[in-house]
Amino acid sequence: MPSNAKIIAASSVTRALSVIGDRWTLLILRDAFQGAHRFEEFRNLSGAARSTLTSRLNGLVESGLLERVRYSDAPPRFEYRLTAMGLALYGVTLVTWRWEHNWAPSGAGIPRYLRHNVCKHAMQPETLCSGCGKLIEVRDVGYEVAPTAGRSRAATPRFRRLSSVNAESHRGASTAFVHITDILGDRWTPLVLCAAFLGLRRFDEIQSGLEIATNILTHRLNYLVDHRILERRQYSERPPRFEYRLTPKGRDLFPHALMLMQWGDRWLAPASGPNLRVFHKPCGARLSAVVACSHCHKTIDPHDVTFPPVAGEAAARRGAAAG
Ligand SMILES: [Zn+2]
Ligand SMILES: [Zn+2]
Repeated sequence: MPSNAKIIAASSVTRALSVIGDRWTLLILRDAFQGAHRFEEFRNLSGAARSTLTSRLNGLVESGLLERVRYSDAPPRFEYRLTAMGLALYGVTLVTWRWEHNWAPSGAGIPRYLRHNVCKHAMQPETLCSGCGKLIEVRDVGYEVAPTAGRSRAATPRFRRLSSVNAESHRGASTAFVHITDILGDRWTPLVLCAAFLGLRRFDEIQSGLEIATNILTHRLNYLVDHRILERRQYSERPPRFEYRLTPKGRDLFPHALMLMQWGDRWLAPASGPNLRVFHKPCGARLSAVVACSHCHKTIDPHDVTFPPVAGEAAARRGAAAG
């Protein structure tokens, strides 16, 4: 079993977060998956300031997730469409919906159910191993670092301040996924969570595993405890010492980390292939996770699922179309 520090450094989660690990980027992708194409549609749904929206849309075009398509010549006007690389984040979007459905505060602006257009039933997205068809649990996943993988320090994200915008100050018409982006819309917090998924519990272990500054780690751990993703438990009385354990709400984010890593492996890995090999212990296969319908158990492809719009969002769409 390789060291946990090496696993985190080698994983594509780090690379994936360097592309989409930002609160506004996550909200823009959310809206793109729900059919937004034009600047004003994104603006109404996300509530982003014009300058923020422009920079994030440009960033997504540069990273290859969106393409800018001209839809009018005079005056020249453009819209944004998901590329194949962007569409491949569909599995991440589905597991995000599932997590918000289970854990976001009530009235968080997400539809109560999803409909699978293939079997025509209401359903929950499930994350399954494509080898054996079983549901994937944190404890069933093993890791192996490729022998050639060097420790890539360049992949470690630079510290970014948490955005001052959060669920309370959010102004967009669509409030779906706001709870999860509050938690994951910064590049360090998901890495602290990865450390927890790998079984690191103590401050020193996590700190050396991630090579993260102690003040940043303290802040992120407190933040995750406040959001009941982790819980703090005393394991020694003298001296008093604590460890951090995943709550059920935290463990339920594992499919999200897994789908993100798989996306990073497919689209961002070095030419030599992903540095981290992940396998499913129950069947021994290289893990290839798929998101499937809880009713018919078929893999869900983009556009197979209808996200029924919630009331405020439908109004915003009409507003954007009229404006
Ligand atoms: Zn399996
Ligand atoms: Zn189905």
